Amino acid sequence: MACVACGKELTAYAKFCRHCGATQALSAALRLDPRRTSTWIGIAELAAQRDPNTTAASLALLIAYEWSTAKEKAIAYYTAQSEKAANSQLKTAYKQALTRVGGTQ
Ligand SMILES: [Zn+2]
Repeated sequence: MACVACGKELTAYAKFCRHCGATQALSAALRLDPRRTSTWIGIAELAAQRDPNTTAASLALLIAYEWSTAKEKAIAYYTAQSEKAANSQLKTAYKQALTRVGGTQ
């Protein structure tokens, strides 16, 4: 498996990255239940922090939406986050995801 922060290869089920020290909680959560919307939101936020290109973040948001059982709530959340998310890359990712799922953006 690859480190969630630096991308370097780690042994399977590593809790910490031996290269950069990052905890691998998200990948652990993903292994436990890949259908959890909150896990994919976390991955989207991490991707938006790491990469100025928001493609990976918006795709993670689309996966989160896909697994979401309350689509209207997801769209409402994405709409709110597209305006008040922590950074501009994340706002962009939420806008891109909204466009693809037919939200109001
Ligand atoms: Zn790492």
